[in-house]
Amino acid sequence: MKTLTDFPYQNVLVLGLAKSGEAAAQLLYDSQIPFRINDLTKLDENDIAQRFDKLGVEVITGEHPISVLDGIDLVVKNPGIPYHHEIVKEAIDRDVPVITEVELSYYLIDGPIIAITGSNGKTTTTSLTYELLKAGGLDPLIAGNIGKVATTVARQQKSNQPVVMELSSFQLKAIENFKPDISVLINITEAHLDYHKTMEDYVGSKLNITKNQNEEDTLIYNADDQYLRNGIANPKAKIIPFSVSGLERKGLYVDDDIVFFQHEPIINRKEIALPGDHNLENVLVGIAVAKLFNVANEDIKSVLKTFTGVKHRLQFVESVNGRQVFNDSKATNISATLMAIQAFNKPIVLIVGGLDRGVEFDQLIQSFEYVKYCVAYGQSASKIREAAERNHYQSIITVDNLQEATFKAYEASEKGDILLFSPACASWDQFKSFEERGDMFIQLVHKLY
Ligand code: ADP
Repeated sequence: MKTLTDFPYQNVLVLGLAKSGEAAAQLLYDSQIPFRINDLTKLDENDIAQRFDKLGVEVITGEHPISVLDGIDLVVKNPGIPYHHEIVKEAIDRDVPVITEVELSYYLIDGPIIAITGSNGKTTTTSLTYELLKAGGLDPLIAGNIGKVATTVARQQKSNQPVVMELSSFQLKAIENFKPDISVLINITEAHLDYHKTMEDYVGSKLNITKNQNEEDTLIYNADDQYLRNGIANPKAKIIPFSVSGLERKGLYVDDDIVFFQHEPIINRKEIALPGDHNLENVLVGIAVAKLFNVANEDIKSVLKTFTGVKHRLQFVESVNGRQVFNDSKATNISATLMAIQAFNKPIVLIVGGLDRGVEFDQLIQSFEYVKYCVAYGQSASKIREAAERNHYQSIITVDNLQEATFKAYEASEKGDILLFSPACASWDQFKSFEERGDMFIQLVHKLY
């Protein structure tokens, strides 16, 4: 496993443990760089802190006293910790750089970095890109939501192995020197304003992905996206725009159902296994990266014909007696479910519901052109029923839990229908995570026949 050499900092604070903090702490420990840990979870309930405590690392838990910054010349913060956090504010006031574990990985990676961000589609695009490079005979690694954290991957990376990396705006806000060879901006929609406070800050963080790139690097971006068109005014990197609308034809575009890369036809969109217009954005990115790595068109096509998506993201589960079943458990808000509904132009039986966050579901119901039945379950079921009644949508069924919902939805469906689980709500009323909820749905689907 690689360690940090020639690291310019001598006294590091790891602020916030969890997965990325633990990986950062382990790297610093193995690299023999002095550091301390500060985490809010008390020591007796904090397995990770206990482990480092036993190793002799200075561990401060249960509170965030300002004194944790004494003598510190670098803060590695958990990406989720906001910039208005007292310690982060104080560090910035003291001119102490604040980075995340992703920046540390940059010191270790020896080979091409493909960094992917966007408001939606990061995980899908990252894993599709990984599959495309693999099909092209490269030996890529994947880091991010579905893989391991960046430093863990970087430590195992062999020279020249491409690293495909999913990055959030939280990670990108803290970029100092991180410089990907290929950066990708899929799209930008309003999100995470509780953390970023302003849209300007959010967009600026996303654009950080390209800030250290130079003319030898490449930036792939969505030319249909207004924030990106405006934001990428003077890029230093070479640009490859992509456009699902076909308005911009310099890079990748779709014309008469054919997907083009710099005017070369690649694939008919009807042959692409991933459903929905939104996924076409992700596909265009994948093709762009694959072409930059000289993956053969035949290999690109064979992946696109078979890649049906990442687990829980509009994932095709299976066909059950003529119904195509999709698991979109990751759709934890209304806009993600709207996207999923729009992906089909066939009758849909939709399962929704979950944690009640106080939002209203009128917009969802109003988009039910193809939804012949909506089965709502969980804490938000009654709210969804009320919205259905307000909007004169009659085909609403409410039940208590996902099990009942799955069976009811199957009963209400017929051959040729889409049976879609795209809950539009967080899972925490009945599940620990959207993953657990999606796994439960898949199990229930297996019991349908
Ligand atoms: P992220 O990693 O950015 O959260 P995912 O790939 O996990 O994105 O997809 C999450 C959900 O977002 C999917 O279930 C789908 O409904 C929606 N989605 C995926 N790609 C896009 C896209 N390019 N544009 C808009 N929505 C998308």
